[in-house]
Amino acid sequence: MAKNNTWAALLTTLLCASWSMAAQSPAPAGQAIPATRGAQIEAELVAKYGQAQQARLHRGIAQVAALWRGEDGNVDVFSGFVRDNFIADPKALDALFNRYQHNLEVVFGHSQEIHRELNTPSDLDTGPIAPYDEVFAAWDTSAHVLDDMFENKLAFVALLNFPLTSLDERTRQGATWTRRQWADTFLAERFRQRLPADANQAVAEAYAASDRYIARYNIWMHHLVDDKGGRLFPAGKRLLSHWNLRDELKANYADKQSGLAKQRAIQKVMERIVTQEIPAVVIDNPLVDWNPFTNTVARSSVNDVPAGAPAPEPLPAGAVNAAREPDLRYATWLANFHAMQVVDKYSPSQPTYIQRIFENDRQLSEARVQGMLEQVLGSPQVKAVAAQIEKRLGRKLEPFDIWYSGFRPGAGRNEADLDVLVSKRFPTAEAYQREIPTLLRSLGFTPERADYVARHIVVDPARGSGHAMGAQMRGEPAHLRTRVERDGMNYKGYNIAVHEMCHNVEQTFSLNDIDYYALHGVPNTAFTEALAFTCQDRDLELLGLSKPDAKSRALQTLETFWSTFEMSGVSLVDMQAWRWMYAHPNARPAEMREAVLNIAREVWNKWYAPVFGVRDVTLLAIYSHMINNMMYLPDYPIGFMIAFQVEAQMDKSGDFGKEFERVARIGSIAPDLWMTQATGRPVGPEALLEAAGKALTQL
Ligand SMILES: [Zn+2]
Repeated sequence: MAKNNTWAALLTTLLCASWSMAAQSPAPAGQAIPATRGAQIEAELVAKYGQAQQARLHRGIAQVAALWRGEDGNVDVFSGFVRDNFIADPKALDALFNRYQHNLEVVFGHSQEIHRELNTPSDLDTGPIAPYDEVFAAWDTSAHVLDDMFENKLAFVALLNFPLTSLDERTRQGATWTRRQWADTFLAERFRQRLPADANQAVAEAYAASDRYIARYNIWMHHLVDDKGGRLFPAGKRLLSHWNLRDELKANYADKQSGLAKQRAIQKVMERIVTQEIPAVVIDNPLVDWNPFTNTVARSSVNDVPAGAPAPEPLPAGAVNAAREPDLRYATWLANFHAMQVVDKYSPSQPTYIQRIFENDRQLSEARVQGMLEQVLGSPQVKAVAAQIEKRLGRKLEPFDIWYSGFRPGAGRNEADLDVLVSKRFPTAEAYQREIPTLLRSLGFTPERADYVARHIVVDPARGSGHAMGAQMRGEPAHLRTRVERDGMNYKGYNIAVHEMCHNVEQTFSLNDIDYYALHGVPNTAFTEALAFTCQDRDLELLGLSKPDAKSRALQTLETFWSTFEMSGVSLVDMQAWRWMYAHPNARPAEMREAVLNIAREVWNKWYAPVFGVRDVTLLAIYSHMINNMMYLPDYPIGFMIAFQVEAQMDKSGDFGKEFERVARIGSIAPDLWMTQATGRPVGPEALLEAAGKALTQL
């Protein structure tokens, strides 16, 4: 995990935090300035500055007009603004660029510092948290930065002089751009959207409502009964859909006696949820028993509510009402879509959420992402790995085996021994701090670079499991938050500390050693995590122990491959559901349900039925992220692909330290270009597929 307040994160915060500002809804973007007035001022300034400036003028004026609102001034104010602020002289333009870079670094750098300090009591192990500490922690002092910059028109100055570019332009032309051209476009990119209060509020409310819906969606497992009234699961077990249900399913591969029966029951529960045949009364209710196969409910004779937990609301007298959940799952999903339709109105350059999430957040087009997912789904490795799983299970695959977890390498080393070794070496956070230069040298950094990075990392004792908090301003250190128990660090804590330390190494290079501030960082979270994993994988070597053998590495690879196979189908369902909503903007929840079930069956029949031998399975629609995380799912499989690409490059280079620094300094340019500069190829699943193929030969 990497915690930082990057610009993108800041914008997301804005999206959620600024909704409470009272403001009148302005007209949708682009309606305050008639096109004729834009053309007029363009002609005037072309006459003044020459034809060579025409393209820049045209683009800049359109970019400002698109986000100009009545409250910013009338058309004369608009023309005056363009006249006063358009810069044609290259030297003056450089000065503007440099001033923005410097001032934004100051604003965002210090905002991050304030954020970090206000969160110290909640993030660090500093004793009890007072109620006022929580208020300070929740206070986002930078929440209105973007609104302010539109109000004082600094955002418009940037939009007038620097180009917003489409993903398509960046992909087609980006390889020929100079670094400065990249920096120009990312400077403008900060101001692509200007959302009024009603749009922010709609999104914040939809997120909150869908989180609430998912957070209460528990199943009381002891109350699942079979035909004979038997109970498979222990008393008191309460599992959240879908995460806990899936993890329970995975854990049951180890239960040779009743694991299979439990897994089949969980699959049935999941199917009842996606089809919405689940009786509403069984959701988070320990007072009823439910047979998910016959779909019957009855008052329960068992009370397994743990002592101290709040008592459930009593059931009404008489027979238990077995009415199904009335499509709330799909109503919640549709509500997200409706919130995004409000944002659509104010996003003239990208009028659908699908476009925005793929082109801005991911910077990989929807078509590219779909292509990569299908490449995994249709790869010959799938059938070969499936055959391995059947062999290991000693039975034919069943649909829930998309969550097969038996590839996990065995314990190998005794964790208790490792705990002793680690706690001796790192009794305190300060001890870890002192060891950083040594650890970095062991990873392959030169003494000079190891010392340089170590000077930029501050180790803090974390309250939770740990995280890395990068700086947003050069010269400021990155913070490594790590958990140290009273008797020293344990192995788990150390393993996480190595991961977080590598986030800090990347953060140090990609901020302090980057040519343009606007390009600091990496393209997206998947890249951050990929780089951190390359160090975490070597944690045993850093302790002076031998690295994991080829077979356990092969098992780990197959585990990741199978997860990517599963998540690729799930992601396709999510993506197709959003396309369907945009094609049917007035759909009712019941129609949405039928559409999603059809999509899930289609994806299953195309990619999974040939492997599992069963058709029309709807399990791929079970993910809760679909309901409360708005098309976040494709980031998982793409993240796995990126991790394997980066890992393969590190292995190939033979000089870990030098190579890590080189790729960390490429900056936050488009992912494909980053990957091409790092590894010679764009983002894609080839490295993962190759590794899986090789792993199959090493079992
Ligand atoms: Zn991480």
